[in-house]
Amino acid sequence: MATDESEPEPFRYEAEVDPGEKRHVRHEIGETYLGDAVEMPVTIINGERDGPRVFMTAAVHGDELNGGKVLQEVADRYAPADVHGTLVLLHVVNVPGYQAQQRYIPIYDQDLNRSFPGKERSNTAERMAHEVYQTFLAQCDLGLDFHTSTRNRTTMYHARADVDEPGVERLVHAFNTNVVLSGEGDAGSLRSVATNNGTPTVTVEMGKAHRFQPALIEKALAGVESVLAEYGVYPEGAVSEPAWHKVMGPSEEKRWLRADTGGLVEMEWGPDPLVEAGDTICTISDHFKDEERIVEAPFTGLIVGVLENPVALPGHPVCHLVRVDTETREQIEREINRGEFDGYRSYGQRWMADDEEAE
Ligand SMILES: [Zn+2]
Repeated sequence: MATDESEPEPFRYEAEVDPGEKRHVRHEIGETYLGDAVEMPVTIINGERDGPRVFMTAAVHGDELNGGKVLQEVADRYAPADVHGTLVLLHVVNVPGYQAQQRYIPIYDQDLNRSFPGKERSNTAERMAHEVYQTFLAQCDLGLDFHTSTRNRTTMYHARADVDEPGVERLVHAFNTNVVLSGEGDAGSLRSVATNNGTPTVTVEMGKAHRFQPALIEKALAGVESVLAEYGVYPEGAVSEPAWHKVMGPSEEKRWLRADTGGLVEMEWGPDPLVEAGDTICTISDHFKDEERIVEAPFTGLIVGVLENPVALPGHPVCHLVRVDTETREQIEREINRGEFDGYRSYGQRWMADDEEAE
């Protein structure tokens, strides 16, 4: 990692972005059926002074939009005069998915986020991943990859990161979410590949697909500033501390609770996402109300992801529950009582019903 004492260098890809320069470019990552270029919008902010290179990526899943709004703002907000290092902002990574407003690359539904680091001569997804990875990500020292829940679900604002890998804990702590789900990540995901190659990377999970959610976007922008301040990339920024911070390791209990019957789903939890063992999370009933199944919390925990589509089939995930220990639970309860459990509580039932206002 570069330090403040060394001379800043140009950021090189197919062109060069000199120190002190901010450039918006469109970088070719593939071709359409018509043979036209598929171009990814990229902003490079090369600071006047030297420092770490930080990448930020959004829409690796094409319909996960909150991150695109975060990066639009980051690209606008930071000037080369204030930056020590380089920001590499890939506004929309999965361009074909974004154009179709769907998660996967439309061609054979390939998941770009299982295709890293990619290969030059392979399928469409791996070629795209290779181009993105080699051209931009491999040059960077740190990374943030912005996601949301998949369609028809939503997620609590949280981070995913492998805190056992070098440098990751500092990064995820600086990003400042209350909850961190720690684990290796899926094979071929941008986060796991970059982290394993020595570029500590955090996935940020924020809300739902197909929406801009301003409160979450603001939190993410504060997280970005905190990271940039922590690493001296933006020394004027503030390193923020979460009121509580809980890293849930892979061995800690977390579970997707699934429907065992098909039917109409009514969520009963809330407004706070803290549930006790035995609490009813939802009921699933048939159209005649002849049968009603209750889905209960098997342990006391925090609901970090939840189904929004009100109908389910057997096997559909209805909620993602992570166990919390007594200490964390007390911290959460204190925050709830003070009305400060804002990351989620303010989205409580409203957060379940905010489709109109978010549009
Ligand atoms: Zn995603």
